Amino acid sequence: MSDFEVKAYPELWQSLDVDVERFDKARKMLGDVYAQAFLSQENRPKAMAYFDEMIAELHGGRIKELVEAKAEGKPVVGTFCVYIPEEIVLAAGGICIGLCGGSQGSVPDAEKTLPRNICPMVKSAYGFKAGRICPYFQVADFLYGETTCDAKKKTWELLDRLIPTHVMEIPQTKKPQSIALWHEEVKAFKVKMEETTGKEITEADLAAAIKLMNNKRKALQRLNNLRHYNPSPISGKDGLLIEQIAFYDDPVRFTEKLNALCDELDERVAQQVTVQGQKSARVMVAGSPMALPNWKVHNLVEGAGAVIVNEESCIGTRYFKDLIDESVTGMDNMLAALTDRYKEIDCSCFTPNNERIDQVVKEFRESGAQGIINYSLQFCHTYNIEEVRIREACDKEGIPYLSLESDYSPEDMGQMQTRIEAFLEQLSD
Ligand code: SF4
Ligand code: SF4
Repeated sequence: MSDFEVKAYPELWQSLDVDVERFDKARKMLGDVYAQAFLSQENRPKAMAYFDEMIAELHGGRIKELVEAKAEGKPVVGTFCVYIPEEIVLAAGGICIGLCGGSQGSVPDAEKTLPRNICPMVKSAYGFKAGRICPYFQVADFLYGETTCDAKKKTWELLDRLIPTHVMEIPQTKKPQSIALWHEEVKAFKVKMEETTGKEITEADLAAAIKLMNNKRKALQRLNNLRHYNPSPISGKDGLLIEQIAFYDDPVRFTEKLNALCDELDERVAQQVTVQGQKSARVMVAGSPMALPNWKVHNLVEGAGAVIVNEESCIGTRYFKDLIDESVTGMDNMLAALTDRYKEIDCSCFTPNNERIDQVVKEFRESGAQGIINYSLQFCHTYNIEEVRIREACDKEGIPYLSLESDYSPEDMGQMQTRIEAFLEQLSD
């Protein structure tokens, strides 16, 4: 499908003060990379057409919807972390979009201001705003930042000069006093959203938002469980893509389309239809999130003939494995239930983080993978150091293991490919 392109909307971009000329070059490149990585796969599920269209309309259709929503008084909140209580944004009538920080293209813009030796995700995200090369950043009313790592929390101070950035303090331990602090932050965020929209969030609003997000997470859980079948009915690349689209699509429509895809995958499981091949080696990825359009590891692993069946990551299971108790009533109790659900996200910012180590092993068993690839972004100290404990757990459990540390530049692709191929050979022995 070489005629695929991410469609251009220069007038719309102009109205959002995007650097149109530069952005248009990035758009063309993204379209080419997408066609090569995704559309060249044979035997994809038919329902992937919706997600292909979401990429074709990445910078147009969805942006128009957001502009229209803003005109109706619905604020657009940009986020970088799955620790944001999205339910509160939705309950207030706002829209939550996960902003990308997965591209090398915006890194030089950031390096004009930020130090070079920090994580590429932070640089990429900052660079998108500094260079005015992302319509999502331009359309956002304000950003939601958090204090999960030092690179992020210090960058928000600078980003706030370019766009208002509301920062929430994320707990670093799961002690009761830390969770109490997080609970207060959640309550303060509710007030912030109410001030932004001028509307008080009612119990009914919050209950509806909780249900909506639970349904979205259940659909993502369903997809994840389907990927665990052998052979997997969908490629890991497409699985990752859907997880990435989850962060910016309309949640109701996304859930509906994903459930339709899962219906098709049910049939493919029954008929043993696969993309990667019946006997592909099965790999699970654990570690740092992969923001759109970071497809590097999945491209290399699946290019070598294996299939990725699970992402223990904030782009993957950490985003959707836990639901909020819908039976709770009363605003205070509901906010407590929400707080409770978010604390289950085992970000590497927590210390100690034993739950995450156990979770990685548990997900490995459930996914039917044969080995784990640990993926850390360069200069991400928490994931890189926690890698020691993941490796030890894999040694203890006899799980074949490979650790990769990378950024977004193409320079280490050859070296990574060699290491991935050697690892996959070990799985087929
Ligand atoms: S890894 Fe941590 S900081 Fe990153 S998205 Fe997940 S919870 Fe947020
Ligand atoms: S990948 Fe690591 S260093 Fe980068 S933003 Fe996330 S937690 Fe911070």
